[in-house]
Amino acid sequence: MPELPEVDSYRTGLDKMIKGWKLKGGRSIWQKACIDDFSIVKNQKIKGFDRRGKYLIINLSKNHIIVHLRMTGRIDVSDETPKYTTVEFDFENGQKMCLVDYRKFGRVWIVDNPSTIVSHLGIEPLSSKFTLKKFKNLIEKRSGTIKPLLLNQAFIAGIGNYLADEILFRSSIHPLRKANTLSGKEIKNLYNSIKYIIKKSIDYGGTTFLTFRGPEGKKGEFWKKLQVFRKTGEPCPHCESPIKRIVVGQRGTHYCEKKQKL
Ligand SMILES: [Zn+2]
Repeated sequence: MPELPEVDSYRTGLDKMIKGWKLKGGRSIWQKACIDDFSIVKNQKIKGFDRRGKYLIINLSKNHIIVHLRMTGRIDVSDETPKYTTVEFDFENGQKMCLVDYRKFGRVWIVDNPSTIVSHLGIEPLSSKFTLKKFKNLIEKRSGTIKPLLLNQAFIAGIGNYLADEILFRSSIHPLRKANTLSGKEIKNLYNSIKYIIKKSIDYGGTTFLTFRGPEGKKGEFWKKLQVFRKTGEPCPHCESPIKRIVVGQRGTHYCEKKQKL
């Protein structure tokens, strides 16, 4: 599933590919995927890209296209409309940008101001605002379970299931720990691991779970670096005891019971 690193690879990849291109129009093929007025994109150029959490923000001359890939979405740029396309945009040069999504959960918005869509999101983990002090303040007020808290987009933006499992493993924190029971040292480990795992995944171009493919069909290589995610029964890379799988907040959760004690 596309998480922060995968969306970030679209941000940088599409910037190299389609920046400056002029739009002709667009349409929803799956009506629910975008209910906004496509006519406003006509004659607008692609000015650049931003990312907020798992949202890709495409800045046009005046407006913004916002994309959320959800479970299985990917973005395809080519001269055709691939199977499972839910939304497509046409450029003056004959190329198309399509949201391709066989489960149809992905969404596109065309807006004046991105904050109408992304204002609910919490702190951006790679921003300069995300300091250890700030993180400590945020986490000490929370009495909930740590894994669902990491997945809560209003708390920190961009972390999904595979990042959360990898982050907790690196921090030696059990996924069922209560946030406000973490020691100062554990909070520091967690803070460092959030930054480390996300940056490392971005460096490797994200992962390739399900239908995710980066721009230009390039495959992310971070799946090779995963330590626990979807490795149930395999030996822990640290202590060789088998990786466990439990369900936490309805999400499959992978951890080492020796390294991550409750
Ligand atoms: Zn272990």
